[in-house]
Amino acid sequence: MKIVLLGAPGSGKGTLAGKLVDELNIPTISTGDLLRKTAASGTEFGNKIKETMASGGLVSTETVLEMLKARLGESDTKNGYILDGFPRTIEQAQLLENIADIDACLYLDVDKDVIVDRLSGRITCRDCGKIYNSKTYKETTCECGGELYVRDDDKPEAIAIRFETYEKNTKPLIKYYQDKGILKTVKGMDDPMDTFKNAIDALDCAQKEN
Ligand code: ADP
Ligand code: ZN
Repeated sequence: MKIVLLGAPGSGKGTLAGKLVDELNIPTISTGDLLRKTAASGTEFGNKIKETMASGGLVSTETVLEMLKARLGESDTKNGYILDGFPRTIEQAQLLENIADIDACLYLDVDKDVIVDRLSGRITCRDCGKIYNSKTYKETTCECGGELYVRDDDKPEAIAIRFETYEKNTKPLIKYYQDKGILKTVKGMDDPMDTFKNAIDALDCAQKEN
């Protein structure tokens, strides 16, 4: 099964993806994670990506697509995958159609005030990408032992721009996938387990319909 996860920054896509991986036995491919790895490479190219990401804007589709194609060519994707962070524009969705048959788009629907509250306080593991909130997680390292840090784009100025970017470029994808008949809206809940259950319900009906 090939799934696209759609939702505002901070809507909980990464957390939901982590739970779906265990349930469905397919990997999550996060273009944000792939880009952060390249950004950390110390090359001139990496630094350019890092700058764009820190600003809250979008990295060029060409760059992201190239990385994505390489990742989709790895053997663990043969039974499907969950895409987190791609597509982010209509153009990217159209390009994706050339390389993948998407079965379902899960749209994670969360109120904006909840999201802003979550993003301020978000800490991320440098090694495995797991996300915590400093208000509730008091350890200094991830459970994998990795270092926790505040992403540049989780700083307040960048959060505002990421929202604008989302509203303008990514939100139109809700209608795009609705028109394709594969949109499944998942209500995001306070408890990640409840969100996960909603997602499983939504996917069950996706499988029946196909
Ligand atoms: P979030 O979903 O919380 O905004 P991500 O980790 O998905 O965070 O993405 C972080 C940043 O990486 C984005 O703000 C953007 O700069 C870049 N990025 C990720 N995916 C894409 C994409 N598909 N196209 C362009 N830029 C991307
Ligand atoms: Zn970790």
